[in-house]
Amino acid sequence: MKTSQSVQLFRRAQRFIPGGVNSPVRAFRSVGGTPLAMKKAKGVYVSDVDGNRYIDYVLSWGPMILGHAHPIVLEAIIETAKNGTSFGTPSRQEVELAELVTRMMPSVQRVRLVNSGTEATMSAIRLARAYTRRDTILKFEGCYHGHADHLLVKAGSGVATLGMPDSPGVPKTFAGHTLTVRYNDITSVERLVKKHGKKLACIIVEPIAGNMGVVPPHPEFLLALRHLTQKHGILLIFDEVMTGFRVHPGGAQTLFKVKPDLTCLGKVIGGGLPIGAYGGRKDIMELIAPAGPVYQAGTLSGNPVAVAAGIETLKLLNKPGVYEAMEKTSKKLAEGLGEAAKQAKVSYYQSRVGSMLGGFFTKRPVTDYVSAKKSDTKRYAKFFHGMLKQGVYFAPSQFEAAFLSTAHSTAHINKTLVAAEKVMKALR
Ligand SMILES: *Cc1c(COP(=O)(O)O)cnc(C)c1O
Repeated sequence: MKTSQSVQLFRRAQRFIPGGVNSPVRAFRSVGGTPLAMKKAKGVYVSDVDGNRYIDYVLSWGPMILGHAHPIVLEAIIETAKNGTSFGTPSRQEVELAELVTRMMPSVQRVRLVNSGTEATMSAIRLARAYTRRDTILKFEGCYHGHADHLLVKAGSGVATLGMPDSPGVPKTFAGHTLTVRYNDITSVERLVKKHGKKLACIIVEPIAGNMGVVPPHPEFLLALRHLTQKHGILLIFDEVMTGFRVHPGGAQTLFKVKPDLTCLGKVIGGGLPIGAYGGRKDIMELIAPAGPVYQAGTLSGNPVAVAAGIETLKLLNKPGVYEAMEKTSKKLAEGLGEAAKQAKVSYYQSRVGSMLGGFFTKRPVTDYVSAKKSDTKRYAKFFHGMLKQGVYFAPSQFEAAFLSTAHSTAHINKTLVAAEKVMKALR
């Protein structure tokens, strides 16, 4: 595998960009080696600057659910751009996208478009604090909600810890407003709510955790959160930046039949262009300026080109049979990977919800951050590089999801599994 162009480019990048990347996990730090610079992508394939081609299971970390460069999405982008790329005024497209989102996700009665998932969660939390007139928030260990100050907090050890910032630059006083609890641990949530309930503005949760690898919620977990928050006047925020339109046209909330007060969206909603959104109950959303006093704004928010890509993506996802087909290929891949590990006698735990997959190199089931962290990351690094050599691109970290798109066919899965059988055997 030739990588000289990528290596050269990365060396140059490090002279101008911190760590050589514009988002940390791209840097291959946890798997070693040099990140591959991609040059183009089409369908299931990404091609790097050295001319290598890979079957892609990263899909730009989730957005490319129709595969790369889908012709209908591309055409919408080009045709829209011809009429100007930004107006800073209302436009027809943004109204259409808002209407589409509220129709697909019934809990979202009003929606505000922003530019990233980070902006969506940050704004939703500000709104929850304003609505409840409370300051403290509760999040789950291992859940990622973007990089806003009060969200860059996980937990120390123990059941629940008052937040310590994960990053320098986050004031302790900010982090102190964030409580963290183990994912899937409803007993601890109950205990915390009993103690701090009157201070709690919201509970924010990934309804399917996807940023510690893929960790599905226990069957009653989300419903229990719903009941508990309702009882104590706490808002429930589903961060569906990853799961929205991916696991179901109506998101994880429709799949699991639990209605949050607010929902954060990103990734798929922009069809590969930068966008985010937050929305929910009308009476809460109407507090946002200029309807209400909670300030939130954006020069490029509702950008017509990004919105056009989003509209076409969602429309295509609404066609019959789309999710059923992805379910079939995803199941085949997940089962195949599990079987390959078993044949090779490699300890491995496979998780999956729809087209989100997590493959952990560990003996035990993964239900939260602590059990996810037991994974053998060195082994994952070997798996990752082995698959890369076979022309398959998984995420360069044990703790990132693998995604499928509508472009992944049974033939692509079979090819991936042939590679996985070889690579798993070499791991022993
Ligand atoms: C990716 C992600 C975010 C952050 O979105 P950005 O667009 O990267 O800012 C927030 N929450 C979840 C669940 C995500 O997966």
